[in-house]
Amino acid sequence: MTIEEKNLPTNKKKEKAVFLDRDGVLIEDVNYLSRVEQISILDGVEDGLLRLQDSGFHLVVTTNQAGIARALFTESTLNEIHSYLDNLFKLRGIHVSMWNYCPHHPSIGTDIYKVSCHCRKPEPGMLLKASSELNLDLEKSYLIGDKISDIEAANRVMVKSILVRTGYGLEHEKLVKASKMKIFGIVKDFLEATNLILVNDSFSK
Ligand SMILES: [Mg+2]
Ligand SMILES: [Zn+2]
Repeated sequence: MTIEEKNLPTNKKKEKAVFLDRDGVLIEDVNYLSRVEQISILDGVEDGLLRLQDSGFHLVVTTNQAGIARALFTESTLNEIHSYLDNLFKLRGIHVSMWNYCPHHPSIGTDIYKVSCHCRKPEPGMLLKASSELNLDLEKSYLIGDKISDIEAANRVMVKSILVRTGYGLEHEKLVKASKMKIFGIVKDFLEATNLILVNDSFSK
């Protein structure tokens, strides 16, 4: 390939993704999880992830982890937890495309972590990062979350969002309904979220 060819804009078809909040969506929310022994994958998550992956969706984890800013655990501990979970998923044939986390907090913590960043949800920074790295079509993508901050992050970049009633879902359902935010669905759990995405995706081809 010549240099000129390399610089030509690529017309590569855009990909689609499901953005996944971690705590209360994929695994039980145990408030600042810091040890692999605390990991408990929620019901239906592995089956749901497999079906989403089989339908051509990238699986992209996007999780706020201010426990790092609060010095409750380190980034290296978090990376260990994510590689442990990634291995559990791989044993089931599930391949997560990206594990994105925000270690910051705007007002708590020390040095590099105490910042108003663009990645802490409701900011959409983690979604935008994945979008540029994976060449995503955000309007064909979805987010599954359990908090209003998840839904808002999706709203800001035109991603369809689904609130699950696991984790903080029941509590945050009221907040979401009282807000003016767009929401694609409010469902019981991960499997119902999966069904909703796959039905809609099959109609939008
Ligand atoms: Mg959550
Ligand atoms: Zn951040």
